[in-house]
Amino acid sequence: MTTAASTAHRDRLEAAILDYNGVLGIHPGSAHWKALAELAGWAPQDVKAFQKAFWQRRTAYDEGTITTEVFWSGLLRSGLVAPPGSPLLAALTHADTQMWTTVDPAVLDVLHAAHRAGTPLVLLSNAPLALAAALDSTNWCRTLFTKTVYSARIGVNKPHRRAYEAALAAAGWPAPERTLFADDRADNVEAASSLGLRGYHFTGDADELARQLIQGAGQLAGHL
Ligand SMILES: [Mg+2]
Repeated sequence: MTTAASTAHRDRLEAAILDYNGVLGIHPGSAHWKALAELAGWAPQDVKAFQKAFWQRRTAYDEGTITTEVFWSGLLRSGLVAPPGSPLLAALTHADTQMWTTVDPAVLDVLHAAHRAGTPLVLLSNAPLALAAALDSTNWCRTLFTKTVYSARIGVNKPHRRAYEAALAAAGWPAPERTLFADDRADNVEAASSLGLRGYHFTGDADELARQLIQGAGQLAGHL
């Protein structure tokens, strides 16, 4: 006979692995993109073209296979150059980092509740080294996350399986079926689910995230 208690035990989360941007991190707004494009020498009417070029180069930058200088060298216009050590490269890196660092307070509250309830949390983010360092230096990161795993540090982006394996290793190899993986990109969630993790496609609903984190366990009851 399956009792409620044994069901709760079977379903109890051992750990949760969370994407950063689009889950805890809020996407940059148009003002951020416009400012970054202008800093890189693009005309205001060309911000959309800048964004397209930015994302075309981002995969390699997130994976850590090209340097910050190389990333920006292909994105500069108006005759600008930004060699290593230059004020412009520092300004571009700073602006590019800062625009990804705003967090959603509602999601933060949910993660604090999960943390108080004792669920180990691991951050798994496709992010370049500069952003990784900035996120690791925040109070919320130091408080909430047992470990952080960034693509540029491991040399591979989600949805490659090695990214999830690195996160599971960081979490101490919990049972995948008792590990929640939350991400705002469906392809990342599908890849996690194919490896046996409890995939959850986050679409901006912090209450639903809270339900996913307490699913089957009741472990957060009284903490939210
Ligand atoms: Mg994301």
